[in-house]
Amino acid sequence: MTQRHETDYEVIVIGAGVAGIYQIKRLLDKGIRATVLEASDNLGGTWYNNRYPGARFDSESYTYGYSFSPEVLDEWHWKERFSSQPENLRYLNFVADKFGLRDNMQFNCKVEAAYFEENENIWRLKTGDGRELTCRFVIMAVGLLSQPTLPKLEGINDFKGPSFHTYYWPHDGIDLKGKKVGIIGTGATAIQIIPVVAEDAGDLFVFQRRPNWSAPLNNSEISKEEMADIRSRYDKIFDICSKTPGGFVHRPDRRSFYDVTKEERIALWDRLYDEPGFGIWLSNFREIFMDEAANAEFSEYIANRIRQRVKDQVVANKLIPKDHGFGVQRVPLETGYFEAYNRDNVHLVDLAETPLERVTETGLRTTAQDYDLDVIVYSTGFDAMTGAYDHIDIRGVGGTKLKDKWEDGPETFLGMLVHGFPNLLMPNGPQSGSASTNYPRGIESGVNWCMDLLEYIWSHGYQRAEATAEAEADWTHEVAEMYKIMLMRKAKSWFTGYNSNVKGHEAGRIRYFVYNGGTPKYNARISAIAGNDYEGIRFAGDPASQPQEPEKSLA
Ligand code: NAP
Repeated sequence: MTQRHETDYEVIVIGAGVAGIYQIKRLLDKGIRATVLEASDNLGGTWYNNRYPGARFDSESYTYGYSFSPEVLDEWHWKERFSSQPENLRYLNFVADKFGLRDNMQFNCKVEAAYFEENENIWRLKTGDGRELTCRFVIMAVGLLSQPTLPKLEGINDFKGPSFHTYYWPHDGIDLKGKKVGIIGTGATAIQIIPVVAEDAGDLFVFQRRPNWSAPLNNSEISKEEMADIRSRYDKIFDICSKTPGGFVHRPDRRSFYDVTKEERIALWDRLYDEPGFGIWLSNFREIFMDEAANAEFSEYIANRIRQRVKDQVVANKLIPKDHGFGVQRVPLETGYFEAYNRDNVHLVDLAETPLERVTETGLRTTAQDYDLDVIVYSTGFDAMTGAYDHIDIRGVGGTKLKDKWEDGPETFLGMLVHGFPNLLMPNGPQSGSASTNYPRGIESGVNWCMDLLEYIWSHGYQRAEATAEAEADWTHEVAEMYKIMLMRKAKSWFTGYNSNVKGHEAGRIRYFVYNGGTPKYNARISAIAGNDYEGIRFAGDPASQPQEPEKSLA
């Protein structure tokens, strides 16, 4: 029997968001000695941090919640079809408290470094509070959009009033009544904030560099009766999610764009525009994603909707994207976004015409004029996908830094393992099934797959598991190849690794961040690999060792 090295934990999970909560639940169910390290002072991840006005799901709430627990499904009442941030955070706390998970989470515990000790096949983690912790396996549940980025603007520290990134919206709120508010950015976040803040602010100045396509969320309340009906259909709902490419309840239209008349296409789009959620994107013709002409016709349809909703046609025209078509970037869903520009107190500043020059003590300066502001909101996005990994000094075999390995873009096996970084698992890593789909659906399959892998490792007495270089190269190639047919490859968005505020991530080299094969294909692939003795993963340990139990908690 192999002498197992004593570690502080068998498994350390980094991050207490949607993924970390489910991951620790699965580990504790198995009695594994595990903990979660979380940098914030409480759980919830994205739903803990993003407290900006208007923050809410754009997945149907009942498809966003966890599916693993019949009791949770039975007890929780989603009050809105697209539930808001405070409710979402309450939900995550409800789940964590129901299963007593909080006791196995350490808050205010930022992981600064993780080094793989080759001789012992263990990870040594350094935390912000000066501790060192060891474990056999590290599970990264750090989120894909959790590293906010600020513009590289001169004078960014000069502004005398409150200014913050949307991710750090003050937890106690901020009174914007009557204030002059500037918001930089028009991504999914800003599109949620703008109509809400417009109601309060004295004047709201929207600093837009490039407009974004968006369509109505069409939110509504969920009555007790409707919730009872949803509960009775949960199996069916999750089954549909597992069979649609996006992991949503929205099924693609299987007809070809070219097999129907223009009138039929418009009839479909009219219907989808008025329906809740992502149907307008995901229940559309597949050509929208791949065919320039089809995409252009649909984009023009949406442009007309914008023209109808915005009174001032000069403003409407500025809100219509010209450099990309609908759906090739992540589509924000909105509630009254375009109507906000019909208000006298909302002013669109077109940075394409007059770029930002600097932040001043009293506001923002463009090439045309100074804007006096009381509050500046940076809705300028995230160092997506790899940013949260880059901010931890992760070193694998031979001291290789993950950040260096991924400098030109992530290279992974299934988005869940990295060659040269044994015993490090990413249930929702870059290039995994979560990245471009209904996030929690992908998370659950990723966590389940990682748990099966761990059990396989433990039952065989292995101490080390690592993706082979070949398997990683093949997967990364497959992910890259899928971009070739997608119009998204041409867009400047986080889907292609673009971020003007991160050195090396400006437009230029495309980074293959998301797996575009869709949920069913991804799940079939990872199941087949598991069923084939985890082909593509090299295991090591004492070959003479007997199958053994993992180190379990004494509790
Ligand atoms: P984003 O989509 O990356 O948008 C950032 C915005 O800031 C863009 O309009 C960008 O302009 C602008 N910007 C960035 N740097 C700038 C600069 N230096 N000067 C001027 N403008 C600048 O970020 P986000 O809106 O936070 O959304 C990120 C992702 O979070 C979304 O795609 C979505 O996946 C997720 N999200 C989800 C929800 C939800 O589930 N309900 C809600 C919000 C966000 P350019 O376009 O010109 O770069």
